[in-house]
This record gives sequence, structure tokens and C-alpha cells, in this order.
Amino acid sequence: MNGGGEAGERAISRGEHLLTLQETDEQIAQLQTEIAALEAALAGDSELDRLREAGRAAEAERQGAEERCRGVERELSGVRQRARSLERRLYDGSVRNPQDLLGMQRDLVALKPRLDQLEASLLECMEVSESAEAGVAVTRSAVAAREAERGSQEAPRRERLTLARTELDDQRAVRAAAAAAALPGDVRIYERVAAHWKPAVVHLHGDSCGGCHLPLGIREANQVRSGDGLVQCSKCDRVVVR
Ligand SMILES: [Zn+2]
Repeated sequence: MNGGGEAGERAISRGEHLLTLQETDEQIAQLQTEIAALEAALAGDSELDRLREAGRAAEAERQGAEERCRGVERELSGVRQRARSLERRLYDGSVRNPQDLLGMQRDLVALKPRLDQLEASLLECMEVSESAEAGVAVTRSAVAAREAERGSQEAPRRERLTLARTELDDQRAVRAAAAAAALPGDVRIYERVAAHWKPAVVHLHGDSCGGCHLPLGIREANQVRSGDGLVQCSKCDRVVVR
């Protein structure tokens, strides 16, 4: 029994071939995730899209505020003109009829609250316009900063992508070699278990399966230690290695 254990320590057990296969599969999955992230980052930037959209919204707000200001200015200038013309005719002696003069005076007084209201509106509108202008400046500089940042990341990202693709090809070759070194039936067992459990190959913890933590039978635990044959946990089906 002891001699068998020593022999097992020297040779790579069937389970250990699967462990190598699993490590390679993990590397491949990691590289695939990294490559997908790099490709997505190079293709577009949702944060930049968001900032540009915010920039367009700020610009639209600024234009809207300016248009409103121009409208208020036009109306204000019309009302002022009307007030000036009433004042002129009131005092230039062209109107002599007292009733007409009284009517004109009433009209002039009636214009005053409208003038005050329009002046207040204009002030308010100009404040809104100024803050919209500031908003435009803020979003513009945010877009510019993000674009600059993306620009500086582009070359390193492309370099890393090229390297990661090469690493992926290498890992696939390593995987093919590891799969060829293992018994075809063992590879099928590993792939079937890996479809349900990750990791599919686990180490022996004491006398227990490193996956589900339930104890293996004494015979199976010893078999794992000696590296003799392929041992699967009877509870979770995982391959158990030393
Ligand atoms: Zn188990």
C-alpha cells in the first residue's frame, strides 16, 4: 500500500491530467472575458455616449432659454414703445380733448404692471440662460476629458488585445495537448462534470471531497492518495485528486 503511494507520487495520475485541463480551461475563460471587455471598450464607451447626450441636452436648454429671452425682449420693447408714444402724445399738445387725455393716462398707468412683469421675466430668463451656458461649458469639458482619456487608452488596449489573442491561441494549444495526454473517457467525464460544477476537479481535503465537503469512502480516499485510477465523489460526481 505504501509502495503504491510512492509510485503514485512519481507518476501523473489520471485525475491530475484533468486538473491541468481544468487550469487551462480557466485561463481560456479568463482570456475570453478579457478579450470581450477590450473589444467592447474599443468599440464604444457608454459613459462618453452619456456625456455627449448630456451635452446635447445642455445645448438645447441654452438655446431654449435664449429664445425665451428674445421673446420677452421683443415684447418688452413693444410695450416700452407704446408707453413712450402715449407719453409723447400726452405732453406734446397734439391731443386736446380732456376725455382722450384721461383715457391715454389710464392706458399709460395700465402698462406699468406689464412693464414690471416683463422686466422681471427678462431678468429671470437671463439668469436661466447664464446657468444653461455654464452647463454647456461643464458638459463640453467633460466630453473633451473623456475623449482624451479614451484616446490615451486606445493604443495600450489594442496592444493588450493582440497579446491576449496570442495567449488565447497558446492556451488552446496547451489544452489540446492536455486533452491528448489524458484518457478520452476521462476527458468526457471531466467535461460532463464541468458542465454542472466549477471546479469539476477538486483536491482531497482530509478524507473529504474538496467540492461538496462530504467524506469519501475509505477505499476511495486511499485511491485518491495513491493516484491510482480516476476517483469521483459519489455525492457530487466531481473528480477528486490529491
Ligand atoms: Zn463531492
